[in-house]
Amino acid sequence: MGTPFVKKLEQEFKDGFFSTDSGDLATYGRDWTKVHTPSPLVICFPESTDDVSRLLKICSENGVAVVPSGGRTGLAGGAVAANGECVVSLSKMRKIGAFDPLALTLQVDAGVVTEAVHEHLKPEGLTWPIDFASKGSSTVGGNIATNAGGVKVIRYGLTRNWVLGLTVVLMSGEVLRLNGSLEKNNTGVDLRQLFIGTEGIFGMITEAILKLAPLPKESDVFFFALPGLGPVFDLFSEARKSGFVLNAFECLSNECLEVVLRNRGFTSPFREAHHYYVLMEIERPERADGREGLEAWLAGLFENGRVEDAVLAQSPKEAQSLWAMREGISESLSALGMLHKHDISLPIHRLKEFIETWTRDLSENYPGLKPFIFGHIGDGNLHVNLLKPAPMDASEFKAACAKADAKMFGWIQEFEGSVSAEHGIGLLKKHLLAYTRTESEIGIMRKMKSVLDPRGLMNPGKIL
Ligand SMILES: Cc1cc2nc3c(=O)[nH]c(=O)nc-3n(C[C@H](O)[C@H](O)[C@H](O)COP(=O)(O)OP(=O)(O)OC[C@H]3O[C@@H](n4cnc5c(N)ncnc54)[C@H](O)[C@@H]3O)c2cc1C
Repeated sequence: MGTPFVKKLEQEFKDGFFSTDSGDLATYGRDWTKVHTPSPLVICFPESTDDVSRLLKICSENGVAVVPSGGRTGLAGGAVAANGECVVSLSKMRKIGAFDPLALTLQVDAGVVTEAVHEHLKPEGLTWPIDFASKGSSTVGGNIATNAGGVKVIRYGLTRNWVLGLTVVLMSGEVLRLNGSLEKNNTGVDLRQLFIGTEGIFGMITEAILKLAPLPKESDVFFFALPGLGPVFDLFSEARKSGFVLNAFECLSNECLEVVLRNRGFTSPFREAHHYYVLMEIERPERADGREGLEAWLAGLFENGRVEDAVLAQSPKEAQSLWAMREGISESLSALGMLHKHDISLPIHRLKEFIETWTRDLSENYPGLKPFIFGHIGDGNLHVNLLKPAPMDASEFKAACAKADAKMFGWIQEFEGSVSAEHGIGLLKKHLLAYTRTESEIGIMRKMKSVLDPRGLMNPGKIL
């Protein structure tokens, strides 16, 4: 199958359009997860929507499966090609097109790197508010296909909110131009949404019209020390009611802070250890009375015993140092050894109950497994991690995690949460899908797949 297909590519496209070099196959056949062994047939580098359309048509005619590839920073194995697929990389589709200063929109190719969009918009005082640690490598197409989140979701919502128009190519080669730059378009099913957050299983996104936001104003960053989980949620409630614009509300347990301090050589902002910490970023009130209001609000938190201690960053450098305590957690945990992790979400009002139930079960039944909890708590999004104890061997650890997981996912189902908050399902979370989506929902997804991709060649094996 491979050779005639590759010959066809040679006939149809110019030199450099594809590569079968072993280094390229290994690089483009995987994402950040690095769990599966990459084994694609070929990597293609289209330069336009028309190239993608002609390529997908040829793949379809030859029965060759396609894997869309962005910046390959995905954490669910969605961009993995391990079965002789044709990987379609948009790394040559990085044009930044028309900016509309009236509508506040920007037209881009889907291969444009997220941070390049930010840099392009800075002089206009605008941004595309999709922001996280991998923005220097992730692409607009990948962000849209994963409906990416990040630390500013509490302020701006998910990627879905910031996409007006999409150009999508179906496996048949058919090109759909969906919604243009319309904010309002009540004309039946919003087909654009089918391709947002569905990890490339329905079609390949090649261009987008992005909705823009003003660049955030200067902000204040606080680090609060709290005596327990209850006070974390009390503080969140107070912050929500305060009227200040919340940019971020991130929580970490003392265990997480200790690991970052040790791994990065940082000094704790506090003299004593506390049970939980919250990093809160708010937009700085411009008016003098706003500033006074903020100070009064903070004083009230201490008077009411809401917080045990707090620091306010006095400079952008200090703000960065506080953020580094939050953003360094994943990497610092990974440096400790074998880690078992999940990215889950729950209704905010059930988060406390969930954390207490899960940690109680661990301490009663798996005393060797130490939980590390942090996350975008303001969005109900938790990153839960278990670290392999040094004396335990890897297979024993995996077996214990599998048992603990079965109960944890049971509670997620019971509490009406999600097995994947923002990283997606890809290959890694497929076995968990039914904890969050009903049989009937999964059945509908399958039917939609068979309409848009009847031969099942578009990113096969992912999600479903
Ligand atoms: C250090 C680090 C921090 C991260 N932090 C966050 C975070 O805070 N929040 C968050 O949500 N994610 C986070 N991620 C995950 C990841 O960066 C996001 O999922 C990102 O949106 C993926 O973009 P990408 O271009 O790298 O996509 P890829 O990894 O290349 O692909 C992701 C999925 O989208 C599909 N896809 C890619 N391009 C297209 C296209 N043009 N058309 C159709 N389908 C396509 C792929 O087939 C795959 O299924 C993080 C990752 C890392 C490594």
